[in-house]
Amino acid sequence: MLNIRIKLPYLTPAMMGIDLERADRGVADDLRIVPTGTARGLSQLVLRTDIAGMPLEWIDYKEAARLYHQEQVAYTCGSPLFELYGGVNARTGRRTVLEINSIVATVGHTGNPGNTRHDYVPPLNNQTLFRRDAYLCMYCSLRFPSRELSRDHIRPFSQGGLDVWTNVVTACRRCNNQKASRTPEQAKMQLIAVPFTPTYAEYIFLKGRRVLADQMQYLLAHFPRSSPLHDRIQRWLS
Ligand SMILES: [Zn+2]
Repeated sequence: MLNIRIKLPYLTPAMMGIDLERADRGVADDLRIVPTGTARGLSQLVLRTDIAGMPLEWIDYKEAARLYHQEQVAYTCGSPLFELYGGVNARTGRRTVLEINSIVATVGHTGNPGNTRHDYVPPLNNQTLFRRDAYLCMYCSLRFPSRELSRDHIRPFSQGGLDVWTNVVTACRRCNNQKASRTPEQAKMQLIAVPFTPTYAEYIFLKGRRVLADQMQYLLAHFPRSSPLHDRIQRWLS
């Protein structure tokens, strides 16, 4: 499935002059950015990894194009998302085309804190928390849209509980109200799963807005084998 490609041979110095902003707005006739069917629009994000293939971050097509221009792209994986058409080369008469893939591996030092720090803990927010728990209330096990979910502190603040990944779960408003300022034992409510702190790769996945199948497969390969996300993602897909 993962189709590793060598750095694109048709990247020429002529590409350096592409004004992405103008091309984006269709201002310049000779510059054009075309999302492929896979991308379904310019907002689709590209997964950037380091040279060893460790996931780093989500970037937009402009940032990806910049990395190509700066010769920072070591190799690409996944499928083509965008085609960037530049000017016609006066000497060869050929139009320059840059193809941007769904996964790009870049050279140089990584900014991946998950690689350098063993005790890395990703920031906690509701969007990633709800995704970690697959939008399921961890008490009644029903699925809800984001707006009907809340962050429950298993051990409540009033009893010394902390606002950390291992003390929070997704809960529907009804269950959260019912539990109130009590522990699950005190409220006689049972958690359906043990909360966990995501690894860096898991966090990148949880942060993704529209993760493509090849990007998801790539990220899954970097999750710990014991990650509950393997099961949860299968359930999302089914
Ligand atoms: Zn509930």
